[in-house]
Amino acid sequence: MTGTARLRILILDDEPVMLAVLERMLANLGFEDVVAFERGASALEWLRSSGGAVDLVLLDLNMPEMDGVEFLRRLVEIRYEGGVILASGEDETIQQAAVNLVRAHRIVALGHLHKPVQPDALAALIGRWQPGVAPDSRRATRSYSAEDVERAIGNRELVNHYQPKVSVATGALVGVETLVRWLHPGDGLVFPDRFIGVAEEHGHIDALTEVVIGQAIDQARAWRQSGLPLQVSVNVSMENLMTLVFPDRLERLAAGANVPASDLILEVTESRLMSNIVTALDVLTRLRLKRFRLSIDDFGTGHSSLAQLRDIPFDELKVDRGFVHGAVNSEKKRAICEASLSLARQLGIQVVAEGVENAEDWRYLREHGCDLAQGYFIGRPMPGSDLPRWLKTWDARVARGL
Ligand code: C2E
Ligand code: MG
Ligand code: MG
Repeated sequence: MTGTARLRILILDDEPVMLAVLERMLANLGFEDVVAFERGASALEWLRSSGGAVDLVLLDLNMPEMDGVEFLRRLVEIRYEGGVILASGEDETIQQAAVNLVRAHRIVALGHLHKPVQPDALAALIGRWQPGVAPDSRRATRSYSAEDVERAIGNRELVNHYQPKVSVATGALVGVETLVRWLHPGDGLVFPDRFIGVAEEHGHIDALTEVVIGQAIDQARAWRQSGLPLQVSVNVSMENLMTLVFPDRLERLAAGANVPASDLILEVTESRLMSNIVTALDVLTRLRLKRFRLSIDDFGTGHSSLAQLRDIPFDELKVDRGFVHGAVNSEKKRAICEASLSLARQLGIQVVAEGVENAEDWRYLREHGCDLAQGYFIGRPMPGSDLPRWLKTWDARVARGL
């Protein structure tokens, strides 16, 4: 056993027999530092008095008095920082919902175990534990002010990364999605979820989008000149669509760089309800008239809905990664993913699957005739200058059959 054997594990299960079985199983796997409790209240008391120094909690969902869901809530209150493994006899849908709940609480969920628990399944989940690695959202706890973001835009600290979008049928590189990053002088690379919202709320999103699009257009021209004519997608926020002159500005930028409007795709995500539908429709319709392309991002989540699809002239639909990765193993994801593919086909628009993380995801999309794919399996977002090198490796993978 490696470093994981030194883990301190807390087991909570109302059945004494179950506790004994799990303790023995853990001992056999080399885990000696184990504490066991039959009641949530006593486990919490112990956690509080010991300073919460536990790496993993093995948690039963069904318990009288305090059940597993309530216990999770209490763990958050005491700022528990370790991982959680769930164990229960509940069916797959409930277990998965509970895992999602753990993650929503920003606690590391290593997975769930079906009772009766098998030693190798237990060992596999514990093996996922990486000490000191909290989920992304917790690692970066620093939040940024509107002034910080404004300064970043002014100081040109925002850089674009580009993630490849390829044809599922042939593997050919078709385009890239532009994803902004902040090269923070002190904090290193900062991801967009930490600052886009701030920019939106404080009136800086137009300036931000202009910088991102400007850089993307320059990059598109450079690729074009080197013999790589690519579709370049850019994410725009709903707030951008509240600016009536946005289409005119964009047209000037593209024309100035000799980049055809039809090479640019604007990905629209609606994180909040459209406050002014008339303005948004005006802007979106004029963008189409100017031959820019429109994509509905994260389809199936938030307000990226059927009504949007009905009202706005989209050219592309991006199936959210929550329905793509792991679709093979989930009846629900499969149903939603396949319905989205079929919807796009019936509407005659291009469909892109996001979040293709492994060969299984890729094969599934091939079998279901998805047009384009994007995800870690194909390539991570990278600086524009890295794309030619990535393309060489990718072409070689495609030639070998991946
Ligand atoms: P999005 O447009 O849905 O972009 C896809 C996100 O998924 C990116 O996260 C990307 O790095 C990540 N991703 C790509 N492949 C995979 C995969 O296989 N598995 C998983 N788990 N994730 C994958 P990122 O770069 O952190 O961007 C997050 C969001 O921030 C974007 O979601 C987009 O909505 C927003 N965003 C990014 N750049 C901009 C921008 O310039 N303007 C605006 N308004 N929003 C932006
Ligand atoms: Mg996007
Ligand atoms: Mg998306």
